[in-house]
Amino acid sequence: MANEAPPADEQAGIGDAEDLFEAPARGSAEELLDASAGDPLDPMRHSAAHVMAEAVLDLFPGTKLGIGPAIDDGFYYDFELERPLTPKDLEAIEGRMAKSVEADHPFVRRELPPEEGRAFFVERSQPFKVEILDDLGAKAKGEGTPMPPVSVFEHGPFVDLCKGPHVESTGKIGPFKLLAVAGAYWRGDEKRQMLQRIYGTVWSTQEELDQYLWRREEAKKRDHRRLGRELDLFSFHDVSPGAAFWHPKGQRIWRTLESAMRELQESRGYQEISTPIVVSKKLWEQSGHWDLYRDNMFLIESEGQTFSLKPMNCPESTYVYRSKLRSYRDLPLRFNEYGRLHRNERSGTLSGLTRVRQFIQDDAHLYVRPDQLTAEIEALLGEVREAYSWVGLEPRFAFATKPDKALGDPALWERAESLIKDALDRAGGNYVVKPKDGTFYAPKIDIYIDDALGREWQMATIQVDLVMLPERFDLTYIDEDGQPQRPMAIHRAIYGSLERFIGILVEHFAGAFPLWLAPVQAVVIPIADRHIDACEEFAAVLRSRALRVEVDRSDGRMQNKIRLAQGQKVPYMVVLGDREIEARTASPRTRGGEQQPAEPWDSFADRLAAESLDRRVSAT
Ligand SMILES: [Zn+2]
Ligand SMILES: [Zn+2]
Repeated sequence: MANEAPPADEQAGIGDAEDLFEAPARGSAEELLDASAGDPLDPMRHSAAHVMAEAVLDLFPGTKLGIGPAIDDGFYYDFELERPLTPKDLEAIEGRMAKSVEADHPFVRRELPPEEGRAFFVERSQPFKVEILDDLGAKAKGEGTPMPPVSVFEHGPFVDLCKGPHVESTGKIGPFKLLAVAGAYWRGDEKRQMLQRIYGTVWSTQEELDQYLWRREEAKKRDHRRLGRELDLFSFHDVSPGAAFWHPKGQRIWRTLESAMRELQESRGYQEISTPIVVSKKLWEQSGHWDLYRDNMFLIESEGQTFSLKPMNCPESTYVYRSKLRSYRDLPLRFNEYGRLHRNERSGTLSGLTRVRQFIQDDAHLYVRPDQLTAEIEALLGEVREAYSWVGLEPRFAFATKPDKALGDPALWERAESLIKDALDRAGGNYVVKPKDGTFYAPKIDIYIDDALGREWQMATIQVDLVMLPERFDLTYIDEDGQPQRPMAIHRAIYGSLERFIGILVEHFAGAFPLWLAPVQAVVIPIADRHIDACEEFAAVLRSRALRVEVDRSDGRMQNKIRLAQGQKVPYMVVLGDREIEARTASPRTRGGEQQPAEPWDSFADRLAAESLDRRVSAT
């Protein structure tokens, strides 16, 4: 279900610099030894971690070594040190690393017999390494298998417990930079030691490193939490963790996105429904979510019954479907819903608009006959393309097929998959296949975009549900021969969570929304107080064309007001003084600093209105 993907995953990613390094928690001994993150640059990244450990050990004798894997865009290593590291220390470590790279030490793998390997790390006072080896030993014993030899990698003076892979020699490590130090519990366990984790990044060329550092700085500047505050879009408060308070400007963005989507949906024959937020657990027992998902639901007791705040809309739409007998002539039925959803995420994992407890999706459930599936999916792909073009994004599709553990008739799966493939082929454009990556009740199409910083986001999904809604809720339609048949259900969201979508857009546009979406499209600035009334009059002309306009009536100086409007990234500014008011003309200035020629108020209003109806945004 568009709505059923585990929310922590679905919402992960965007955010501050630390989030860019989000590494999977490594707990088991095997995980601790797994140095890769699944990228061709991993051997170099991980080799840089070894070199960093060499440097730290050299500069801070007695350091206890944790682990040092490759991660997305870089590497880290965890250390137990006697004092907290400072930025100056990082510089010193970098300098020491550069020497090791220059020395071009080869990486050499050695295998030691288990006892010898353990003694090696005991001798060097490396208790964390000994702990990993002891865990592996205990596991082998439990399984009745002999303890495998201890694999170590050596370069120059440094030896680490490691399975590799590494680059040939330290000289093969490209340009690198150490970025930050953060606390990290040993094995991700808050009852264990807090270690110091140094993050670094390494690339094949200086240019790639520079680009990466630029993207990182830019991502910090564009952080939607920071811009959300600066642009007065939304705020968060302790009284409701993980739920945004939308300020007027944020709410305008929201409503504008929503009405654009409503327009698209109406033109495609969708029908909007609205279903209850507080629902009996009986519903979730029937859908199967109670077993799988209960821990993520907010529960409410009333009159001896258990209810929950709905974490997804899906099952409730079946009540609308079943409210009358459906004929083959009624299909496809397309029910869309902007349902307010709640998922009980741990408060520690919440972050900005991207990891929330409450959100709204532009959700829809489509009930189709099998012979309608291909055309419907093809049309959906077109809807996705169109909606993303409004914000200058180009969607990419990934087709996730039947997993090993799947419910439902294999023949039905096969048919559904071939119909979806037809739709993808007919829709043109590129897609990749992710074998066995579908959910257990549905093959699906995942939608990805790259934002202006080249960051990839997984957005919404289209899922073809063969089991969950049709079977569990016993949905039927009457076919041409008067026989009951099962429809297929398509779960789909295009924006996905509006909260997350807006968070991504804030960062993608760095707050400078295209005209059609900008919460304030024009600011009118009086030169002096005596011009305020005429400014209001001009604003009324603009508002009569449904434009979103503010008059800056504050007592600041004109130059400050212009700077403020620029900082707020308002697409147009119009300054009015005696001359303009007398002539009833406007000389607009764009947020890019372009001064446009004077034109009559009405003509400016008409031009702006026409421009703001055009949702095409060229890709950035
Ligand atoms: Zn290694
Ligand atoms: Zn659904």
